[in-house]
Amino acid sequence: MDDADTEHRDLDIRIAEGQIVELGRGLEGGGAELNARGCLITPGLVNTHHHLFQTLTRAVPAAQDAALFGWLQALYPIWARFTPEHMFVSAQAGLAELALSGCTMTSDHLYLFPNGAQLDDTIAAAEEVGLRFHATRGAMSIGESEGGLPPDRLVEDEEAILTDCIRVIDRFHDPGPNAMIRVAVAPCSPFSVSRELMRDAALLARDKGVMLHTHLAENDEDVAYSLEKFGCRPGQYAEDLGWTGDDVWHAHCVKLDPQEIDLFARSSTGVAHCPCSNCRLASGIAPVARMRHAGVPVGLGVDGSASNDAGNLVAEARQAMLLQRVSEGAGAFSARDALRLATRGGAEILGRGGECGQIAPGFRADLAIWDLSGVEAAGSWDPAALLLAGPTRVRDLIVEGRLIVEGGVLKTADLGAVLSKQRALAEALSVEI
Ligand SMILES: [Zn+2]
Repeated sequence: MDDADTEHRDLDIRIAEGQIVELGRGLEGGGAELNARGCLITPGLVNTHHHLFQTLTRAVPAAQDAALFGWLQALYPIWARFTPEHMFVSAQAGLAELALSGCTMTSDHLYLFPNGAQLDDTIAAAEEVGLRFHATRGAMSIGESEGGLPPDRLVEDEEAILTDCIRVIDRFHDPGPNAMIRVAVAPCSPFSVSRELMRDAALLARDKGVMLHTHLAENDEDVAYSLEKFGCRPGQYAEDLGWTGDDVWHAHCVKLDPQEIDLFARSSTGVAHCPCSNCRLASGIAPVARMRHAGVPVGLGVDGSASNDAGNLVAEARQAMLLQRVSEGAGAFSARDALRLATRGGAEILGRGGECGQIAPGFRADLAIWDLSGVEAAGSWDPAALLLAGPTRVRDLIVEGRLIVEGGVLKTADLGAVLSKQRALAEALSVEI
């Protein structure tokens, strides 16, 4: 994933203090060694859009076959019953799933805080599982009674939102190059907060030196809402309120038109592409190949587990590759293109392009090790098999030089215990309906 697209063979990687310090053949040992003979090693995958809390609401019958707005309205009443425990346990399970699928760094977009829930709940889960974590402090402030989509009991006062953004930035955000936790400001979407909050959020983020994230131009309804309420397309709305630049990344952008693609390229505004969610909600096919051609920075996201409903990042990369081919042709998007989106592309739109997403001296030691000797990749001729065939789980995962997954087993948390808590909470929620 370096500028020359170098692919090494039979290489040793020396890691010290969380960093890749040397590449070469026959490097002398001196510390712990991990034998990855016969494996493919990629930079750790980067997930740029998720709602970890939704891991507790997979395959909810009322939301299975709806489009975006109807899907949200079916799920809001369930999410309104969540507590800090629901947030923590759903994040643990979602993070474990990401880790097992090769993800070393993930962002999360938490935009509702019922019953005392806080951003702190998901950050605690990330600290336990051990992934590099970009928590985004989401928000909704326009309830049903004011023409918004969410029920009034799930929205917050705008001043309280900004105050809590400042609290979590001051408490958790680490601007350093080896940061394990960063915080971004992330009003949920233009259809759930006011124009003033979008503008103030951008001012706050710039003042604090943190990034901005939201949903944009997700489907036709979303664009129609923008035209009707704001009198302009989503790209114009974003630009007017300070929501363009290399410190901003927007989820989806399925419906960006050519002028908006040009705007995003000129301003280096990032896009989190979420192909499975876009298929699941019939939102459409994001013009990712055209965005990349124009120079828009693009990363990959699994999106929340209520609209995917899987949270497997390497499978998401495969889906990105397949979907671009449907709209642009078989030669339009290679396995390597999709892997780049899932690694370096994601690191770049999260503002970590100088330290994550490549296997090179000076980069953080975030690595995914894939065993290509199993049945999924049997008979393959090229490492592109990782996306064209499989596997869909890592053998080992290293984050900041630390083994998080070893031999296919999560080492940092008791997955069995997490899943039984998850099952109990999901069952209780479904009984109460
Ligand atoms: Zn989303």
